[in-house]
Amino acid sequence: MNPFLNEYETPFKIPPFEKIKFDHYEPAFDKGMEEHQNEIDVIANNQSQPTFENTIEAMERSGKTLDKVSNVFFNLLGSNTNDDMDSLAMTISPKLSAHNDAILLNKKLFKRIEILYNNRKSFNLTVEQDRLLNETYKRFVRSGVNLDDGSMKRLTQINSSLSSLSVQFDQNVLKETNSYSMIIENEEDLDGLPKEEIRQAALLADSEGENGKWVFKPTRVSMYPFLTYSTKRDLREELYNSYIQRGDNDNEFDNKKIIAEMVSLRKEKAEMMGFDSHSDYVLDNTMAKTPENVNKLLQTIWNPGVEKAKGEVESMQKIISDEGANFKLAAWDWWHYSEKLRQELFDFKEEEVKPFFSEEKVLAGAFNVAEKLFDITFTESKDLPKYRENIRSFIVEDANKKVIGIFYTDFTLRPNKGGGAWMSTFRSQSKFDGDVIPIVINVCNFPPENTDGVSLLSFEQVETLFHEFGHGLHGLLSDAQYPSLSGTSVTRDYVEFPSQMMENWAREPEVLKTFAKHFETGETIPDELLTKISAAGTFNEGFATTEYVAAAHLDMAYHGDVPAIQDIDKFEDDTLKELGLISEIESRYRSTYFGHIFAGGYSSGYYSYLWTEVLEADAFEAFKDKGLFDKETANKLKKYVYAAGNTDDLMTQYIRFRGKEPEIEPLLKKRGLN
Ligand SMILES: [Zn+2]
Repeated sequence: MNPFLNEYETPFKIPPFEKIKFDHYEPAFDKGMEEHQNEIDVIANNQSQPTFENTIEAMERSGKTLDKVSNVFFNLLGSNTNDDMDSLAMTISPKLSAHNDAILLNKKLFKRIEILYNNRKSFNLTVEQDRLLNETYKRFVRSGVNLDDGSMKRLTQINSSLSSLSVQFDQNVLKETNSYSMIIENEEDLDGLPKEEIRQAALLADSEGENGKWVFKPTRVSMYPFLTYSTKRDLREELYNSYIQRGDNDNEFDNKKIIAEMVSLRKEKAEMMGFDSHSDYVLDNTMAKTPENVNKLLQTIWNPGVEKAKGEVESMQKIISDEGANFKLAAWDWWHYSEKLRQELFDFKEEEVKPFFSEEKVLAGAFNVAEKLFDITFTESKDLPKYRENIRSFIVEDANKKVIGIFYTDFTLRPNKGGGAWMSTFRSQSKFDGDVIPIVINVCNFPPENTDGVSLLSFEQVETLFHEFGHGLHGLLSDAQYPSLSGTSVTRDYVEFPSQMMENWAREPEVLKTFAKHFETGETIPDELLTKISAAGTFNEGFATTEYVAAAHLDMAYHGDVPAIQDIDKFEDDTLKELGLISEIESRYRSTYFGHIFAGGYSSGYYSYLWTEVLEADAFEAFKDKGLFDKETANKLKKYVYAAGNTDDLMTQYIRFRGKEPEIEPLLKKRGLN
């Protein structure tokens, strides 16, 4: 019995994780693709006149088995993988890509869509139906359905290669990250590190068979505390270099060739579609529209950002010389000296703050914000299916006690989980074919529990939790008819808006006080500390802006109208030098581990975080004006942003919420760059 091939007999039809075995995936993928193809053939070969129902709605209804298996497989591939899953991903990705191409390049099917599209005014469609028809039509055209047969064949090859290459890229980064350990044998080399970091490093050493020693890894969770507190400059340099060299070590996991090949295939594809570059092709379907608009925004913020960063360098260089040392601040020194600078300017240590941010209380705080804004509640349930220990599940209800969704959290760092944090769905919301509630998950890499069994977060991790929770709400509050338009199915330069928006509440003292309680004493965070956190709000923003814009610029450079790239390292160097990046700061991602653009669907899209930050900073002004939990503003935010998905034009929705187009000033102010 293959669970994917039967109705799920579980509460809320959640995937029956306990019953799913590795051997179920491949046959379910095969069966799912076959079933989907048959359904599509029936639609394409229908003898009656095309209607919205027999074509567009029928397509929305198709591919259910494939969705079921894909949703589980790709979620777990990201959060809980193993060698079997990795190798299946390599074989299944090109098959899926070919399957999708067969549908999107089906001329008979497209003919029906085209007839509907050309006559759409005569069908009395709702706004959402009209949007769905438009989006479907555009998707087919952008996929190349109008190409001749020869070009179409080449396009299919390109898509399949790109899909395998991106899987390979991702796996290489994970392998490079896991394969390096900085092993410390002498206790004196731990000088400066907080007790808890030392304990974690000892546990890591045990798990790697290095008992009695300490291990640090090139992951942000392990590396940042070391870079911040270690007084051993040479060790900071060693660990930092292991991080920034990932995928660039000329070994079997090197990503440089993959990058060169992907960039050239993307360019070829864009040109087949009639665009000058991959960026032109990608951006045509976003809010930003053109590379010029993106570059303009990046340039607007680059100059004040890098100027501020130079000031930060100066202040840190002064600390170095005051300490009697005489070396020039390097990239691996930044965290150490910016922590000293922070203490000097604001008189608090990051370690003083952490005890007030236990993961459990921060999550409860996020729930509380959602409850106050949107009248929904989160109730933990221990009886729902889970794919492993240590993940939590919640039933989400509206004010009338109606269940609107299921929410999972998988927060703890593990070696078989990808880096960073993300939201995903096991099922998206829809209504046109009966009420389907969404199943949403937030995956993070927060520190393991300390000796008291509590995971303590840095303030940055608190913001991350709220960020991912914002994506989660975008999925959970979704109120669309059609699955293709529901929840987070919006353009990339809009999708980070609902997530970044939620971070704002985490920064408000009034809200922080409700959940920042000491994990041992229960004491609320002192006002004095809150004032310091808030005063430090724009601290180090020169660095944050600079490393971010550098990465966004690198992304745009790879995908612009450039000749074939021979030497990846040189291209990266030249591009960043030309931009004016200073030697004390490295791009947020170097090319060989820039998963967003080579493995994650954000090519020509890393700028999106800044684009949506313009929206978010402008949007939050409405709450600053009227009150953090002003009901009328919150209702509009829910209706036109979190519930609306992609059911109407996105800027139109924004203006319905805000009453005007967004302005850039609130963003500059927020980053301390005005
Ligand atoms: Zn996000």
